[in-house]
Amino acid sequence: MYSVTDPVTGELVEEIENASDEQVRDAIGRVHAGFAAWRRRPVAERAAIVARAAELFAERADELAAVMTLEMGKRINEGRGEVGIVVEIFKYYAEQGPALLADEPLAIKGGDAVITKEPIGALLGVMPWNFPVYQVARFVAPNLVLGNTILLKHASICPRASVAIAQILSDAGVPDDAYVNVFASSRQVPWILADPRIVGVSLTGSEAAGISVAAEAGKNLKKTVLELGGSDPLIVLDTDDLDETVKATATARMRNCGQSCNAPKRMIVLADLYDEFVDKLTKRISEYYVAGDPSDPKTTLPPLASVAAADEVAGQVATAIEQGATLRTGGHRIGPGAYLEATVLTDVTPEMDAYRDEIFGPVVLVFKAETEEEAIAIANDSPFGLGASVWGTDRERNTRVARQIEAGMVYLNSAGGSQADLPFGGIKRSGMGRELGPAGIEEFMNRKSIRL
Ligand code: NDP
Repeated sequence: MYSVTDPVTGELVEEIENASDEQVRDAIGRVHAGFAAWRRRPVAERAAIVARAAELFAERADELAAVMTLEMGKRINEGRGEVGIVVEIFKYYAEQGPALLADEPLAIKGGDAVITKEPIGALLGVMPWNFPVYQVARFVAPNLVLGNTILLKHASICPRASVAIAQILSDAGVPDDAYVNVFASSRQVPWILADPRIVGVSLTGSEAAGISVAAEAGKNLKKTVLELGGSDPLIVLDTDDLDETVKATATARMRNCGQSCNAPKRMIVLADLYDEFVDKLTKRISEYYVAGDPSDPKTTLPPLASVAAADEVAGQVATAIEQGATLRTGGHRIGPGAYLEATVLTDVTPEMDAYRDEIFGPVVLVFKAETEEEAIAIANDSPFGLGASVWGTDRERNTRVARQIEAGMVYLNSAGGSQADLPFGGIKRSGMGRELGPAGIEEFMNRKSIRL
């Protein structure tokens, strides 16, 4: 069942039946049949449609933000900001797509070759609720420009966002057999992947969903892109303005109520700064982040996406405390909606669950490192490898540390960001493949070698 439940109150607003097997098979048939015509359209035409979609996303930013606020509790300003990045992504692939898809001449031994960049067919997208529009954009914009068609299964808690996105694409001129939104259940995903008419899958979501989809895709020899969880380290080496560093790092962690895969969930601070950093961070977190209505632009702490998510994160915090972590502030659920106090935990050790698990909510873990080497070791002692950040005044030192971190992306003196032209993705249990930037259009591409 797809449903809209307001996380502010926990009250059910709307329920929508899952698509039947027949409806899903019909949707697969549409995107499969639509591929032949869509791939044949000149790339400039596909790019123009994607450019038009960018304009429509910009025009409907307020409407989309309001939907996200209702469905998953996103702060209204953050919703508008999310749509702003979505506009940039659609514009980026509309503008850069044709050049990225140009033939690549290649001099080879004994002659010449050319690499052509071709689409591969109908793809399945399985998308999460934390950035309901942005996550879809990363997958859809490059693949539409490339000429692939898309069957989209969105998270069951954001049906209205998925319909609003499909409407924008349709209004922009994407044919109704090139992009199809389907209210499929996750139980239908294995047989969608077994259907020979679907040639690849991109999933953003939890490790468990990633394992299941990758296994099914593997059994059926389907290309996979996975953007999974993370427990990104944030290393503070030194600072010439501790207040500013604390404010900026807290902001990065608390963005989207802590529900970002690449949020800095583990802050690792060198010993000479540690005590002062923890005191200032605790003060900032406890005083600035106050629970409120996400539709009020002044609110700093919205609810989590669902009551179940809030209960789960509160449970992780309680377990950490039971296992010996120190609670500096927060930790309590606020009812009846999906609120959890902004929380700081310290003294988390490798024996505790919180050391390894992703905590997908407004919770910061702070670790002390005696040396730069120890900070790097703590950063890398994680099953995840999505993002990381290094904070300090010496660019050369920051870069040296960045090079030693096991992650798909490292930011210096900022954290948790994303932009259209910079590849995004992880290693280890954070997934495989890249989205955004030039790399993002290559995942479901046939780089065909033609020997001339
Ligand atoms: P899920 O991974 O369950 O949901 C993401 C998407 O995957 C949804 O469309 C969901 O469908 C679908 N899905 C779930 N299980 C399967 C499956 N076995 N086969 C196919 N599709 C599946 O996220 P949750 O809501 O459970 O979030 C839990 C955790 O996931 C978070 O705590 C966080 O760690 C991680 N997460 C990471 C995100 C990221 O940005 N990397 C985004 C969201 C979550 P349906 O909604 O119908 O179940």
